[in-house]
Amino acid sequence: MASVKLSDRKDKWEWRGGCDSCFSVAAIKSFLRSNTDFSSNYAFKWSKWVPKKVNILVWRAQMGRIATLDALIKRNCFNGENRCIMCGDGSETAEHLFCTCVVASEVWARISRWAHVGPIYAFSLSDLLEVHEFSGLGNKAKDILKGVIMIVLWCIWKARNGRRFSDSHKSADKIVQDVKSLGFLWYSNRSKCKDVSWENWVSFSLM
Ligand SMILES: [Zn+2]
Repeated sequence: MASVKLSDRKDKWEWRGGCDSCFSVAAIKSFLRSNTDFSSNYAFKWSKWVPKKVNILVWRAQMGRIATLDALIKRNCFNGENRCIMCGDGSETAEHLFCTCVVASEVWARISRWAHVGPIYAFSLSDLLEVHEFSGLGNKAKDILKGVIMIVLWCIWKARNGRRFSDSHKSADKIVQDVKSLGFLWYSNRSKCKDVSWENWVSFSLM
């Protein structure tokens, strides 16, 4: 008690979580985040011209939150074999299905030729979602490639579900055709560049 000094000042609450005594919501956020390391977190950036359902699938896939066989086994929701149904080889993880599967590799080879970029090799979803940044394309084509990559993931997932649940078989060539037609439909209706022609789209002349 010896160190306590009393004064005539009126009692008041004081915020001690920040460098000044001014309390605000921003100061709370800053205080809560001050001891958290976000350096390894991947910040998912949405594509505006691609529908929400595609953005959400890709966002969930990137976080490992889609129902691949590997994910279901880890959650004790499936106890069968987790072999990839697209190639019959390898465990069905999101990385295998979208990156290293033979079918996915063929799709990426065709997409890179279509978009006039170097071969697309990826070992994770995060790698795929950054391909456009290092593509050497102009800003407009880069934005298109970013959306196209998301549509590829959407179409591979749809093809996988069709094969698993409806016994429908889609080749890499058919998946790429779906990507081009869905991409054109969405880009010409949802982006600011509604005057894009099908001829320019299929030749990726979009500078
Ligand atoms: Zn596979």
